[in-house]
Amino acid sequence: MMDEERIRDYLLSLEPDGDPLCGVIAEDAVRRGIPIIRKETGALLKTIVTMKQPGAILEIGTAVGYSAVWMASAAPPACRITTIEKDEARIAEARENFRRAGLETRIELIGQDAEEVLPKLPGGAFDLIFLDAAKGQYGKWLPELLRLMPAGGVLIADNVLQERTILESRFAVERRGRTIHSRMREFLWEIKHSPALQSAVLPVGDGAALCVKRPEG
Ligand code: SAH
Ligand code: MG
Repeated sequence: MMDEERIRDYLLSLEPDGDPLCGVIAEDAVRRGIPIIRKETGALLKTIVTMKQPGAILEIGTAVGYSAVWMASAAPPACRITTIEKDEARIAEARENFRRAGLETRIELIGQDAEEVLPKLPGGAFDLIFLDAAKGQYGKWLPELLRLMPAGGVLIADNVLQERTILESRFAVERRGRTIHSRMREFLWEIKHSPALQSAVLPVGDGAALCVKRPEG
């Protein structure tokens, strides 16, 4: 076993169990191949949420609601979470999970394509944005996401290392002839060079970009 894997196993072994309902949702999602944040990404998210004490969180990519319930458990009681998902079956499941968690008044699920929703959301409304949807769209959505955050707002983007395939360019060719990988590399370049952001790309889980909107941004 490579040292890196042993370190990863060790770090995972340190993670405490979350609340039981989160465990049930996660187990069921993993069994059915529904993507959810990795444990170490979950720890990062909870830490940032606790540090930031956000009044409002925006999540893009709800799936069945695991990460939203997870963030809610660390957020201040008055924090509102808005989460966007476009897949009908997942929307229904997420709603059911929010109800089971008693979070239906704190979490608002918008069941539409983020592409249509983002431009309609009010500027500066979200202190923390968790971006975890179509990986090829991150760069395209970035200006909208910047508009939605006040100065000091935090953006966390998941899966930026694409299962460590970020350096490949021959696979996953999309219609417009560019690859998810090259688009993701453009996104990472963008967040590292945008005057509006201070960013760190962390090799945590499947790669997490952590960005803060600068005061003058
Ligand atoms: N954040 C979830 C996992 C999200 S998986 C968790 O950790 O529990 C990514 C989800 O984004 C998928 O369910 C997919 O349907 C959704 N998605 C992808 N593109 C989208 C878009 N343009 N608008 C809304 N949802 C989208
Ligand atoms: Mg993810």
